[in-house]
Amino acid sequence: MEKLRLDKFLSQQLAISRTDAKKLLKSGSVTLNGKGVKAGDTQFDAEKETVCVNGKPVEYKKHLYIMLNKPKGVVSASVSPDEKNVIDLVPEELQRNGLFPAGRLDKDTTGFVLITDDGEFAHDILSPSKHIPKTYITVLEREVLAEEFALFEEGMELGDIVLKPASLKKVAELTYEIVITEGRYHQIKRMFAKTGNKVNELRRIKMGSLALDETLAEGECRELTAEEFLLLTH
Ligand code: URA
Repeated sequence: MEKLRLDKFLSQQLAISRTDAKKLLKSGSVTLNGKGVKAGDTQFDAEKETVCVNGKPVEYKKHLYIMLNKPKGVVSASVSPDEKNVIDLVPEELQRNGLFPAGRLDKDTTGFVLITDDGEFAHDILSPSKHIPKTYITVLEREVLAEEFALFEEGMELGDIVLKPASLKKVAELTYEIVITEGRYHQIKRMFAKTGNKVNELRRIKMGSLALDETLAEGECRELTAEEFLLLTH
């Protein structure tokens, strides 16, 4: 197993700076396998050995995977000086350095945003070549005409690219479920605009086979369970 530096581990797992991790170590509140430890450069195996702060074990999670129900008006970024972003909505106990949204929803789009610090995994689920479906509910300006469904399902031309086929079905008056496997800039709005229609509301309800938890109010988030994590890619 790869060894980790103790100061880096504390900083990552407790979402504190490396300087604060060093201070914590100096203060004498940290133990490794029950023995007091003060040196930040101590190497240890986070999967086998136990680190405690003030007697409380620090759980080791290599990466975090968080499901957020994004409200309108919040940007899908991790740094945004003048606007509220999705990372600002993550409560303190789930904060850690390096969190970012895996895929962007527009400011006025609501619903499922996956927040993680696992760059490799994010790249995988967003890659068009992996065909991971993303499911949205949209409320449109007017009904989709019978002959327009094929435009979505055959792979629409948008600018100089041909999109992968999308599936589109009506679920209620003016309301449609659309599934896409790419995440191009304003993709769904541009697809409907191309047919002379307009997206009035857009909400992401699923990534892969994992549905947004209906009990999460807008602005709320929670960590994924191990089973849910697997559904993201299936
Ligand atoms: N397509 C859009 O147009 N906007 C989003 O936020 C997501 C997909």
